[in-house]
Amino acid sequence: MKNNNRIAIVGAGVAGLALAILATQKGYQVSIYERDSKISSIGAGVTLWPNAIFVLQQMGLEKEIKHMGGMPSDMRQFDQYGVQQGELNIEEANTLSGFSSVTILRRDLMNILARALYNLGVEIHFNCSITEQDIEGLKQECILVVGADGRMNSVVRQTLYPQKVQPCYQGFINILGISQLNENILEGTIHDYRSSGERFGIVPIKDGLCFWAGGWSSGIDKERPLSAWYNEMHQRFMNWPAPVKNVLNCYEKSSLNRIFVHDIEPLPYWHQGNVLIIGDAAHAPLPTSGQGACQALEDAWHLVRNFEIKGELDNMLTDFYHQRIVKTSMTQVAGRQLAKRIFGDYSEPHPSVLRISAEQLSQFWMKGL
Ligand SMILES: Cc1cc2nc3c(=O)[nH]c(=O)nc-3n(C[C@H](O)[C@H](O)[C@H](O)COP(=O)(O)OP(=O)(O)OC[C@H]3O[C@@H](n4cnc5c(N)ncnc54)[C@H](O)[C@@H]3O)c2cc1C
Repeated sequence: MKNNNRIAIVGAGVAGLALAILATQKGYQVSIYERDSKISSIGAGVTLWPNAIFVLQQMGLEKEIKHMGGMPSDMRQFDQYGVQQGELNIEEANTLSGFSSVTILRRDLMNILARALYNLGVEIHFNCSITEQDIEGLKQECILVVGADGRMNSVVRQTLYPQKVQPCYQGFINILGISQLNENILEGTIHDYRSSGERFGIVPIKDGLCFWAGGWSSGIDKERPLSAWYNEMHQRFMNWPAPVKNVLNCYEKSSLNRIFVHDIEPLPYWHQGNVLIIGDAAHAPLPTSGQGACQALEDAWHLVRNFEIKGELDNMLTDFYHQRIVKTSMTQVAGRQLAKRIFGDYSEPHPSVLRISAEQLSQFWMKGL
């Protein structure tokens, strides 16, 4: 029998956990299922821009996030010889937005979210890989089934699009890591080094702790051993400026990860009946957008806000799609445009990102919030 107060959530990533917290705070009974045996911390770190901090504040978690994270003051872009090409004043963009930007290790972000949910009395069902058949059952039992099951193989998306939505490989790989530097040489500045077809970004947290990503144009080769990718990274970046050399000299071995970077094209709908997708399952942008987790948090906030509007579920979910599709599509397009300029066939000799002003960025971040 259908329980009109129960929501099932598939996936305990950023989107699933945020939705579970916000919906529980509003009095809904949440069941959340995660296929892994624990919360995933894959992905080194994330930058939470002011739109994400707005949502985390609504969840009551802003203080904790700021305590664990770092507050970058600016972002500087350099070529591979260390010559500065551009600069963004993050503090100015924060002031215009009314919220901070925070850099944080993914494991810390995920732990804070999971603990908040646990403190609300909700336990995550681990080792629970939901199938299409399970979704049929959950549809009967719950008012809403939400797929927050990620970009690559979302089972819930598969039920909405039986012809299968194919994530698009964008022709470059990322290798991610975490390093603890002895000295605080980054001083709150996000360092972004670029050449044609290559990029190395370093994001400081605090006290010398930082996370980073090296990327370059490449085909997909899943057979190639990880060690070969990591060696190639060292070869490619060994003569790059000192901060790059420094982080490559002292990373946590267990933090290394290689990703073939995919996104998905904007989808024409995100729900059917009482089944909905959010987060990367619905609108995965490239990491070059810097907005995937931020948009996942926004989804959760908008959706729960819409729960308060009484009326037909179908209308509410359609409204949710219309509220979110423009901003998430802009994010996807922006991520692709930048990736093309750095990693595309006709990549620019000095691919520049910092053409956008603090004012334009803050307007985009806070759109709809
Ligand atoms: C290199 C890189 C850097 C990034 N940097 C940033 C950044 O700085 N800022 C930012 O905002 N975003 C960033 N992102 C994007 C961000 O990481 C993602 O957009 C975000 O994690 C999406 O969250 P999600 O919850 O939708 O999906 P996921 O985090 O993918 O979570 C999906 C969850 O669902 C579970 N699952 C899947 N299938 C099933 C199933 N059948 N049953 C049960 N559970 C299932 C998975 O195990 C997983 O735990 C970055 C991404 C990458 C790759």
